[in-house]
Amino acid sequence: MSNCIFCKIINKEIPGKIIYEDDVCIAFLDLSQATYGHTLVIPKKHFENILEVDAQTLAHVMQVTQKLAKQIVEKLNAKGLNILTNTNEVAGQTVHHFHVHILPRYDEKELVI
Ligand code: 5GP
Ligand code: ZN
Repeated sequence: MSNCIFCKIINKEIPGKIIYEDDVCIAFLDLSQATYGHTLVIPKKHFENILEVDAQTLAHVMQVTQKLAKQIVEKLNAKGLNILTNTNEVAGQTVHHFHVHILPRYDEKELVI
């Protein structure tokens, strides 16, 4: 998709902080870090959302999501995670290239302001 911002990140037409890449998917830091380490995992092939992606690609994306979630918890010392995918505008989807959010969560009592 020529006008898709995530396809442009995949094709290295615009910069992205890519933390993982293989033949099927990439993962990169979300531009607006909702929590520290907020990461997006996406298939390289363009699918609009989870309803459109084929089962094999979805399985691979979710396996990579689990692997990265484990690494993020360990490296960033997160206390938990939200893993979610928004589907269509009514659910808050703003980029129409299927993506899984990994949102590390921290114990707020430990945060120093
Ligand atoms: P959605 O609301 O569609 O579930 O999530 C889209 C996400 O993509 C948002 O969290 C937004 O911050 C992120 N995003 C939008 N444009 C860019 C971009 O150009 N680069 C990166 N790294 N993230 C982006
Ligand atoms: Zn795309």
